[in-house]
Amino acid sequence: MTPRMRKGVYPGTFDPITYGHMDIITRAATHLVDHLVIAVAENAGKGPMFDMAERRDMVQGEIDALQSDVSARIEVDVFDGLLIDYTRSRGATAIIRGLRAVSDFEYEFQMTGMNTKLDPEIETVFLMATDRYQFISSGFVKEIARLGGSIDQFVSPRVAGRLAEKVGR
Ligand code: ADP
Repeated sequence: MTPRMRKGVYPGTFDPITYGHMDIITRAATHLVDHLVIAVAENAGKGPMFDMAERRDMVQGEIDALQSDVSARIEVDVFDGLLIDYTRSRGATAIIRGLRAVSDFEYEFQMTGMNTKLDPEIETVFLMATDRYQFISSGFVKEIARLGGSIDQFVSPRVAGRLAEKVGR
């Protein structure tokens, strides 16, 4: 029997991509799925600092910097509309999400519940944030950058440069 290729979608706003996101991406692409689609959400409602093209570019830049055997299994795409429809259209069977402290739980619990009702064949898989990335959030990274603090522990030098340009520092 030929094993079926497992495809997963990792959706997010990635405004901007952090080491916390990268940890989930590399773990999912290494241990869980054969092909990972990172799906950058339009999410205008969240009022992102970076537009869709900028966020997509930053994610692609981080993937290009990974070892080629890992990056070869990762694709960066953008989507708008219902995540479940997008996931199905890409032929994926799993949605990958990262889980930090309890604060993520309520939202993720509800989203998974709704998505399961919309399509019970698509499973949502949660990866616990690694200890040292547990406290990283795009929101705080932006706030610290705005206030002139150091963000080197949270994002790559490439992303830090883009943030510095954005906040005019
Ligand atoms: P969204 O707008 O969908 O919450 P984000 O870009 O904020 O998008 O996050 C995408 C996914 O990555 C979410 O599942 C989020 O919980 C997860 N995530 C964000 N930061 C971290 C982190 N530091 N460690 C683990 N997972 C994270």
